Amino acid sequence: MLKGIAASQGIAVAKVYKLQQPVLNIVKRESVPEEELKKLDAAFAKTVADIEKIKEHAAKTLAEEELAIFDAHLMMANDPDLRSQIEDMINNEKVNAEYAADQVADSTIKMFESLEDAYMKERAADVRDVTFRLKCNLMGAEIPNLSTLDEPVIIVAKDLTPSDTASLNKKYSKGFATEMGGRTSHSAIMARSLEIPAVVGCPEILEKAKAGDMMILDAIAGEIILNPKDEEIKEYTAKGEAYLKEKEALKALLNEPSISLDGHKVDIVGNIGSPKDIEGVLANGGEGVGLFRTEFLYMNSETDFPDEETQFEAYKAVLEGMKGRKVVIRTLDIGGDKKLKYYQFDEEMNPFLGVRAIRFCLLHPDIFRVQLRALLRASAFGQLAIMFPMIATLDEFRKGKAILEEEKAKLISEGIAVGKDVEVGIMIEIPAAAVLADKFAKEADFFSIGTNDLIQYSMAADRMSQNVSYLYQPLNPSILRLIKSAIDGAHKYGRWCGMCGEMAGDEIAAPVLLGLGLDEFSMSATSILRARKMIRNLNYEDMKKMADQALDCCTIDEVTELVKKNIGK
Ligand code: PEP
Ligand code: MG
Repeated sequence: MLKGIAASQGIAVAKVYKLQQPVLNIVKRESVPEEELKKLDAAFAKTVADIEKIKEHAAKTLAEEELAIFDAHLMMANDPDLRSQIEDMINNEKVNAEYAADQVADSTIKMFESLEDAYMKERAADVRDVTFRLKCNLMGAEIPNLSTLDEPVIIVAKDLTPSDTASLNKKYSKGFATEMGGRTSHSAIMARSLEIPAVVGCPEILEKAKAGDMMILDAIAGEIILNPKDEEIKEYTAKGEAYLKEKEALKALLNEPSISLDGHKVDIVGNIGSPKDIEGVLANGGEGVGLFRTEFLYMNSETDFPDEETQFEAYKAVLEGMKGRKVVIRTLDIGGDKKLKYYQFDEEMNPFLGVRAIRFCLLHPDIFRVQLRALLRASAFGQLAIMFPMIATLDEFRKGKAILEEEKAKLISEGIAVGKDVEVGIMIEIPAAAVLADKFAKEADFFSIGTNDLIQYSMAADRMSQNVSYLYQPLNPSILRLIKSAIDGAHKYGRWCGMCGEMAGDEIAAPVLLGLGLDEFSMSATSILRARKMIRNLNYEDMKKMADQALDCCTIDEVTELVKKNIGK
């Protein structure tokens, strides 16, 4: 079995088609510049025409945003700078056009590859794609065209260029496996939008797979089986069919409300760690963002805390991208297991019980203020809710809110636009806050229950320790009672209560949470449709009764059994 990165989910079973690009043997020759320039003209014209044709084919299957890549390629093929560099070399050194094109392409690719920024680095693949086509056209070499496939295959290649991916014929291209690439490479992004199973970054694939071999591509687990046994083929074919059937059925719920059989409506929203992740939330019908973990902005920064502008751009991108849907952004939750490359935390015996999250921000208001300004400025671009993590006391909430109000007043006096209805809420992840929820609800606009921490602190069981992982018990009646206290506290003052810990996406927990009255379920994008399906098949009044019984249970096993019996599992 070979391992790679599952870049686009699904399972395929088919023969291997090795996509091999023509090998160009480019040698330096002394040439007459006028003749070479003429050849170059014709090759550029054909390159532009080829890309336009591929784009036309791609337009049938890809969305407007994905077609932008071909506009970028056309711009590159029409770039006077690229062309004049090649022309200058032909004129000055009297060399053949393909040699000059090869040299210029090489130095341009190297330049992109040397850039720090991951996005810019990946643009080297675009330059390689366009200039390779140019060189093939100069030498009369044919580039394989995947749109001419006539039997089902799994494509195996070093990497797929955007034009390869776009010319894939979905009827016969059952999936692809590449040696190179990561989750953000173009081929991976396109595979996801074409919904073709793909495993990328599999280092041995080209060497191990032979053309015509049977292959199982499990792009859910990121695994590849070459020359599988008959039973394996049967097993994975059935798995693939079941996956597709379920996925198809779930798509019908994309624009449907998350509403129970008896008409009780909840929101199912997504957890994100970067602006890019909203793509998945929207593609899975997320009704908003319930948690943006902003600490990743800080943890990915190399040398210093991210400045106001960098943060503003990230928050604005999410708010704009979510087009008016509610976006809950959590202020910096650092400390515990989350460290920074450029900041030394004080040594503490129990970092999870030490200076973490809001405690850190209140100790370092200068750092906190930068984030609050960025958030408030971004609030003018959508429906923002700001959430403080790890609140234990009302005093902490009041202090945090006061600093926020000060920054808001400053921005307004500077004439900078700030959103009108920014909600300010807290995470309920410390038992003290869950117990005193009704008092918090007088002052906070909403709650979001962070069960990952709430369970760790209630059970006194380090969430990082394998040895006590049996104490992660979301359905333990004690945890359910804390959750009830939080939800009831919120509702007493007309506030809404969500949950953004892992428990919200748990299939056995969701019916109980619905019954307890949870208003918003926030989870990873790929769980959204499955959760919506579940809610739509439940009766809210029945779940309320079941939740009451769950609160009266003694153990997690009793609760689990109760839920299974009620939902017929
Ligand atoms: C939680 O504690 O449940 C939560 C959502 O926050 P994190 O997992 O980031 O600590
Ligand atoms: Mg937490």
